[in-house]
Amino acid sequence: MRNPLPPASVLIVGGGIGGIVLGDRLSALGIAVTICERHQGRAGSSWPEILWPATKARLALCRGGNDVTGRSLLTLGGMQAHVGGRWRELLSREGLQASSYGPVSADPHGLREGLLASSPCQIRRGLTWERPILDGDGSIRGGVFREAGSGAELEIRADLVVGDDGSGSRVREAIGIRFDARSFPLDFLCFPVLWPTRFPPDEALLWAAPGLPGIAGAMVMPQSPGGGGAGMILVDPAIRAAVGEETLWQACLERLPDFADFVVRAEEIPTAVVRDWGHARAYGGRGGVLLGDAIHPTSPAGGQGANMAVADAVALGGLVPQGGEFARLLATYESQRREANAKSVGITAAVASGLRAPLPGSWRRGLVRGGIRSVSRLGWAPWFLRFPATAFLGGEME
Ligand SMILES: Cc1cc2nc3c(=O)[nH]c(=O)nc-3n(C[C@H](O)[C@H](O)[C@H](O)COP(=O)(O)OP(=O)(O)OC[C@H]3O[C@@H](n4cnc5c(N)ncnc54)[C@H](O)[C@@H]3O)c2cc1C
Repeated sequence: MRNPLPPASVLIVGGGIGGIVLGDRLSALGIAVTICERHQGRAGSSWPEILWPATKARLALCRGGNDVTGRSLLTLGGMQAHVGGRWRELLSREGLQASSYGPVSADPHGLREGLLASSPCQIRRGLTWERPILDGDGSIRGGVFREAGSGAELEIRADLVVGDDGSGSRVREAIGIRFDARSFPLDFLCFPVLWPTRFPPDEALLWAAPGLPGIAGAMVMPQSPGGGGAGMILVDPAIRAAVGEETLWQACLERLPDFADFVVRAEEIPTAVVRDWGHARAYGGRGGVLLGDAIHPTSPAGGQGANMAVADAVALGGLVPQGGEFARLLATYESQRREANAKSVGITAAVASGLRAPLPGSWRRGLVRGGIRSVSRLGWAPWFLRFPATAFLGGEME
């Protein structure tokens, strides 16, 4: 038997930003939403995350959204790049003030926790999706979860199952969607930051092509008016495997100008993050739907992943309450989102090809440094913001 739509109950697997926004929307309409998240608390270090104004506006519509966005989001006032031995203005304060597309820095953990705290949807932590519960015609009617701690299995049934369980999605696997993940040519070492008072509290900093072996760049970003933030180092996976994270971390601490001043705990090796990318061939099936990284994981290039997840959630949150056939819901959802998501994934594809281009390291560094110098001198950076700030929006959302 196919599940009834609109559903009385929705099970969301994974408590990422997309799942939380969807849960908030549906529960506000009286639908019983349960989010099952495998982690019991905060998982790992934070990372720098750019949200765009359109996403900030959508988050503000969540229950308590205004408070949360006020606490966990910081509109950037500028960006400096260290190139040719000195700091250069890459994004100027005046340029950003004149632009409607200024980037907003998010504290990803704070944002998710803040939204959950004021949302009526229920979150059950420490539950890892193991396999689907299927009915007679093979439709997914819920999931079997493994409880952290006890190791016991637990069944949760719902009229609709949504997979927001990230790039390695097990719900996607249960639906039977093929996904060819591609590896991104850089890995990311993420670490917490405490902003030194001698740097403006709302400007991000970038060390571009610093000429250290295995290190393509580094950045630090303020995330809250209180001086907290996060940073990441972009590293070559082969060199990371050969020399280890500690060597690369020490090189940054010793050789990147001003870098060590931002680091909270120099003795703590950053968390390594690998970002595979791709775009799934379908957005759901067998009575289950997917969103966010479960269908289109990307690299951090262009700041798209979380923005896409929120846009997916908004689209799905508008369609699910309308009812109708499951096949129609899925077709409409995919037709609203695929083109925009393809644009966003295209940014990662383009950057990955550029990084794989067979160029000598010195040429590559010259191109990056020359590009930053020109953009900085000509004040062009704000002109480049429109594309990443809107790529993830479907035509009807712009
Ligand atoms: C270093 C870095 C920088 C980034 N920069 C940006 C940026 O600037 N801008 C941007 O928009 N995006 C950025 N992203 C990407 C962004 O963080 C992700 O795209 C976004 O978080 C995806 O959200 P989501 O809703 O798809 O869920 P995810 O964040 O993928 O969350 C999935 C959740 O599912 C849970 N889960 C997984 N498997 C199971 C299971 N079997 N059972 C139960 N729960 C499960 C996980 O624990 C997790 O909480 C960055 C990511 C990284 C790592």
